Amino acid sequence: MERTLKISKIKDGTVIDHIPSGKAVKVLNILKISENTSVSIGIRVPSNMMGFKDVIKIENKFLEKIELDKISLIAPSATISIIKDYDITEKFKVDLPESVIGIVRCTNQNCITNAGEPVSPEFKVISANPLALKCIYCKREMSESDVINSL
Ligand SMILES: [Zn+2]
Repeated sequence: MERTLKISKIKDGTVIDHIPSGKAVKVLNILKISENTSVSIGIRVPSNMMGFKDVIKIENKFLEKIELDKISLIAPSATISIIKDYDITEKFKVDLPESVIGIVRCTNQNCITNAGEPVSPEFKVISANPLALKCIYCKREMSESDVINSL
């Protein structure tokens, strides 16, 4: 059994669990969170499965597909729980896709996807951990930090 987090339960909202330790702030940065939203963050929470993990609880927020896709790039191990009236109504793992389309910009300024052409950036995932993507147009490889800076 994993030790439970001693932060209060939320009535409605989203719990992002099993975030690799140290990544919670990066995950939070890519989410659209309004300033009157309550967020609880657990950093370096002991986890039997992961050693340490980070956890984020966000009240009254349900994630959009693009936010889930971005989380999958930063924290491919993350699990999402949807909470409604204190109950978990849905729980799933984020899904790192084989291709990442439209959510990451290519770091190559000369790439066709940066030339104002109607071409969506598209990358193949060549490694999940550590994350590495390859642009299908210019073949530029992007490391995890390149990806995080381009989200
Ligand atoms: Zn490119």
